[in-house]
Amino acid sequence: MFESVSAAPPDAILGLTDAYKADPNPEKINLGVGVYQDEQGRTPVLGTVRAAAARLAADLASKSYLPITGSADYAEAVQKLMFGDQDEIPRSRRAVTAHTPGGTGALRVTADFIRQNFADATVWMSQPTWANHPAVFAAAGVPTKTYPYFDKASNGLNFEEMIAALKKIPEGDVVLLHGCCHNPTGIDPTAEQWAEIAKTLRTVGALPLIDFAYQGFGEGVKEDTAGLQAFCRPGEELIVCSSFSKNFGLYRERVGAATFVAADQDSMLRVASQVKRAIRSNYSNPPSHGAELVVTILQDAKLRKQWEGEVAEMRDRINGMRTLLVEKLAEHGAPGDFEFIKRQKGMFSFSGLTPDQVERLKNDYAIYIVGSGRINVAGITPSNVDRLAKSMADVLK
Ligand code: PMP
Repeated sequence: MFESVSAAPPDAILGLTDAYKADPNPEKINLGVGVYQDEQGRTPVLGTVRAAAARLAADLASKSYLPITGSADYAEAVQKLMFGDQDEIPRSRRAVTAHTPGGTGALRVTADFIRQNFADATVWMSQPTWANHPAVFAAAGVPTKTYPYFDKASNGLNFEEMIAALKKIPEGDVVLLHGCCHNPTGIDPTAEQWAEIAKTLRTVGALPLIDFAYQGFGEGVKEDTAGLQAFCRPGEELIVCSSFSKNFGLYRERVGAATFVAADQDSMLRVASQVKRAIRSNYSNPPSHGAELVVTILQDAKLRKQWEGEVAEMRDRINGMRTLLVEKLAEHGAPGDFEFIKRQKGMFSFSGLTPDQVERLKNDYAIYIVGSGRINVAGITPSNVDRLAKSMADVLK
């Protein structure tokens, strides 16, 4: 039967990593896949993760199954981290948090939940968005549509058109938003814009779905919850898909969470039963190690503080590289104003490079960037930034 199977296209971003690995050029630069790297180009295990792992190795009592939605401690820690001092939701016990395999797992559980419970709902996503967003919802059989987001002219948010489109969304549909550090553009709404987005969804009766994969990479662990807070009003519903791949550096541990906030506890319990059903027939129950690391760090005041410092270090390094890249582009005479790169938040920069220029950077300079022109700023280091800026200036001229 396998004879009849045709080859699927390679994943655009992961395929780029394969091409980078195969390139013999010693000066090659990989700015494709969204993974944090330090100044030496390494993706280190965080010190707090090492400390937590050592504790777990000594103290962990069992490797028996977790409940379908994971441990209660993890759910509590995740809710505390994202709701912070605004604790009406945890106090009202109107949210259920399921520990999922990564943020992708959270999105897939959410997609299955939507398909199984809101058969007619469409999920609206920003244009552009993370390439896997449409794929995850399509795999679950959920229709998707897009709303305008990026304004090429200003390298900013096309807020007017975005709001105009959101106002036309039918009641009962779902609107996917990036909680902070929008992937791929790096452009986030301001606090006033978040308030207006939340008001608009409330007015049309659409359900907000917040993808929260970069908490701490924008302005700070607490500051980055500002967008999410706009949707946290008593009695209002939302879904949050969290990922701890980036902010805990736990990429391969696959640790994330899907949080369904219902209007009250009664409806939360019904929602929880459906979330469990969706998980049971998918992966049954979550892998424990990554979540145990997260809980160990978040529950220990000293480790928690140290972790915030580690997140700040990653954030500051990325922002430092943004500034340096803009300086170097000017130094090498790149045509245009690149100040917008400094305004972008998180790991990525939508550079404005065309597919043609991206192709030239790969073929002529061994610099690997996603076709959309999205640069992983965390792949820039003090030792490759000069060559990168000079090469960008060359292809831009
Ligand atoms: N959402 C967005 C916007 C992302 O960029 C990513 C990771 N690239 C994810 C979700 C999924 O993260 P994870 O690796 O935890 O599945």
